[in-house]
Amino acid sequence: MQPPDHPLDFVELERSDLEAAFVQLGFERFRARQVFRWVYRRGVTSFDAMTDLSQPLRKSLAATVAVTTPHVIQRERSADGTEKFLLELDDGKQIEAVFIPDTPSMTFCVSTQVGCAMACRFCLTGKMGLIRNLTAGEIVGQVRVLAGALGMLERRFNIVLMGMGEPLHNYDETMKALRILNDEHGLAVSPRRVTLSTVGLLPALERLGREPIMPNLAISLHAPSDATRGELVPLNRKYGVSEIIEACKRFPLKRRSRITFEYVLLAGVNDSPEDARELARLLTGVKSKVNLIPLNAAPGIPYERPTDETVDRFAQILADRHHTVSVRKSRGRDIRAACGQLIVEGPRRSPAQTLATLAFGH
Ligand code: SAH
Repeated sequence: MQPPDHPLDFVELERSDLEAAFVQLGFERFRARQVFRWVYRRGVTSFDAMTDLSQPLRKSLAATVAVTTPHVIQRERSADGTEKFLLELDDGKQIEAVFIPDTPSMTFCVSTQVGCAMACRFCLTGKMGLIRNLTAGEIVGQVRVLAGALGMLERRFNIVLMGMGEPLHNYDETMKALRILNDEHGLAVSPRRVTLSTVGLLPALERLGREPIMPNLAISLHAPSDATRGELVPLNRKYGVSEIIEACKRFPLKRRSRITFEYVLLAGVNDSPEDARELARLLTGVKSKVNLIPLNAAPGIPYERPTDETVDRFAQILADRHHTVSVRKSRGRDIRAACGQLIVEGPRRSPAQTLATLAFGH
């Protein structure tokens, strides 16, 4: 995506590959690390500002190497402190990333695709369809831009791959992004601070289990039976509930870690006491915790949020059966930054998008 006169886009390579590329381009090998620190630790993307490089070196780097960075188009702050960033990529496509303070630590929720192919029926992003995969540089770029804008480059934070897109449907770029984020000379984000959320693309999930850098795993389950899940998550027709649970049982978890099962509660669809009991049975023997997400309703989404009593009753049934259960607070709903509400309006809008736009006044 870099201009033709820039043979290298710095943000698309891991450091070891950058070192090799620098040598090939005639720069000293250690310069790659120097620039890496500027870009990831200090948020500097212009070679001009890299003051420990000589002027001629800055010039020739600027002529050869791009540092492609998403642009902040819009930044909205919710009453609860959540901030949603609308970012524009090099080709003009737009994505959203969200900063969620105090959860208990600071968290960045980032996207892995423009849109999503999974078409879960309660998710607004699913209505966009898949427009394209993000590159590793664009995935990491969201973290760079948010951390820079919020003055958090030197701070510790968590990353959840729970923005737009299905991370395991963009496997290679997502994993490369995790390696770049992990680099000790850059942001040094430990994989323990990263959570990858997936709808359950089985072959990719098996592959994830063999990765040297392994994030925490969250599975978007949403129903204990194939009948209901098949309605909500089209992919379930390919990889069903029991296959996913079996894969989770085999997943090589680190000591003391557990798989999070996300469960969007939809009134009258998957929120009955019987659903809760079935879920409790299903997860017996899986090192798990359950995260209940009461639906964030939106125009164009054909479901409703259950009452707080229903949510509590569901949670209680799981807790009574010794499952760890939490109810996800919906952060940033007033700016449409909550789960399943990330959507970017293109020039051609679907009816659901138009409705959502009207209702939320964007
Ligand atoms: N594609 C991945 C990553 C997205 S994570 C996945 O599905 O896991 C976003 C989480 O928010 C998922 O658990 C998703 O099911 C949930 N979600 C989607 N739409 C929602 C909505 N309208 N209300 C609440 N949660 C929603």
